[in-house]
Amino acid sequence: MKDVGKAKDPIAAALAARSRGEVKEAGAWLDRAGPEIRRALVDRATAGGAPRPDDWEQLDGKRLLRALLDREDAARVRTTPIARDEAFTCAHCGREVPLGGRRPRDHCPACLHSLHVDVVPGDRAAGCGGLLVPIAVEPLRKGLSLRYRCAACGEERRNRVLDDVDPPDAQAAVLALMRARAHSPD
Ligand SMILES: [Zn+2]
Ligand SMILES: [Zn+2]
Repeated sequence: MKDVGKAKDPIAAALAARSRGEVKEAGAWLDRAGPEIRRALVDRATAGGAPRPDDWEQLDGKRLLRALLDREDAARVRTTPIARDEAFTCAHCGREVPLGGRRPRDHCPACLHSLHVDVVPGDRAAGCGGLLVPIAVEPLRKGLSLRYRCAACGEERRNRVLDDVDPPDAQAAVLALMRARAHSPD
């Protein structure tokens, strides 16, 4: 990294620091730069919604930068699914649902209901927690997917029909959903 103080946009250069050496160097620059630059740097680092460290006024440059960079990383939205396979008790029918094993179990094999707990599959980042009610079965290039509507917030989501785990999704429930859909007006 070039000398932060000589960069065209030193604040951006300081916030681009990643390695220990870079953070140390940028922190030393920040200590020399004075309170207005510090404030501007904190404002810019938290503009995306990351929380401001409570003690930011007391931290030295290096620690402040480290705290800001950690928060930025934590606030960055994850976009890749996580294969999180958990046993659970179905919130709709009460069935004890075992692990999927071959695939993450994300809905009840008996009644097909699920819970609105993920933003991206497996991240458990949705604050909602509402019941995901299956409303349709749709073909995928390989297999079938279930379309859900959240009973709490109305968001629609999709899960794959699991036919290769033990126990598989109940065929009767999948067929009943297809039939109900075929006869519904929309
Ligand atoms: Zn169930
Ligand atoms: Zn919801």
